[in-house]
Amino acid sequence: MQPVKCSAEVIDIRVLTHDVKEISLRMIDPPQLEFTAGQYISIEVTEMKDGHPRQNNRPYSIASSPEEKEIITLCVNLVKGGPGSTQIHSLQMGDKLKFLYPLGYFTVKEAATSLLFVATGTGIAPIKSMIVHLLRSGSRRPMTLYWGLRSEIDLYYQEAFTSLAKEYPFFKYCVTLSRPTDAWTGLRGRVTTLLPGLIQTVENLEAYLCGNGEMIKEVRTLLIEKGMPRKSVHYEKFY
Ligand SMILES: Cc1cc2nc3c(=O)[nH]c(=O)nc-3n(C[C@H](O)[C@H](O)[C@H](O)COP(=O)(O)OP(=O)(O)OC[C@H]3O[C@@H](n4cnc5c(N)ncnc54)[C@H](O)[C@@H]3O)c2cc1C
Repeated sequence: MQPVKCSAEVIDIRVLTHDVKEISLRMIDPPQLEFTAGQYISIEVTEMKDGHPRQNNRPYSIASSPEEKEIITLCVNLVKGGPGSTQIHSLQMGDKLKFLYPLGYFTVKEAATSLLFVATGTGIAPIKSMIVHLLRSGSRRPMTLYWGLRSEIDLYYQEAFTSLAKEYPFFKYCVTLSRPTDAWTGLRGRVTTLLPGLIQTVENLEAYLCGNGEMIKEVRTLLIEKGMPRKSVHYEKFY
């Protein structure tokens, strides 16, 4: 399907951390958004070029699950001085947004394999959509999520993933902090440092990686070295 122009209205803004907001958008045109978990929208933003405002676009993954067609959510990290993320973080209730959709091929392939998800930062957005969709739609594929964040003040969605892991025993969830305080009793270190010791086998496994390019490169290399076929490592690089 060719990307089409859409519009939506901001109906909820949740401050998740000091630099991450979750924005809920109610679709206006079309009234319902048909998408596949993992896809993104491309939002029109205004940036300054040579002192003049210029229209540009920034991609943002849909964090909500595709069953929710009338309201979609985004999970956006504020990048200092970045026009796109600053514009999104400045949105107020009732503001209207224009964007293109549907975009992207970072979607879970149908197979009988186990699933490994690895995210850093807001790279969790498409992965949350995928996991919630798989679980709600009755998938019984064993899945593990490793999520790397910096410190305790960067934590969000913990309750959501912990509850899912309790409800669905075949879903395992681990968060690791690269710079925790001394009080942190959970996993410590970057996901890239921890994964070699945590992945026992890559047999019958498909991997979905999302976040910063360095993590993706390192984890991809690790998985391929462990014997995972290249085509089984899927990724979306945010930057
Ligand atoms: C397919 C796709 C989906 C994306 N989905 C999301 C999403 O769901 N949530 C989200 O927060 N971002 C997402 N991004 C990143 C987003 O599109 C922008 O790049 C980001 O918001 C920065 O845009 P900006 O205009 O504020 O800053 P820019 O001036 O465009 O970028 C400034 C610098 O910020 C760095 N940067 C970009 N993204 C991040 C980030 N998330 N954290 C830290 N540094 C960053 C880059 O190195 C870049 O050079 C996605 C990117 C892609 C390619």
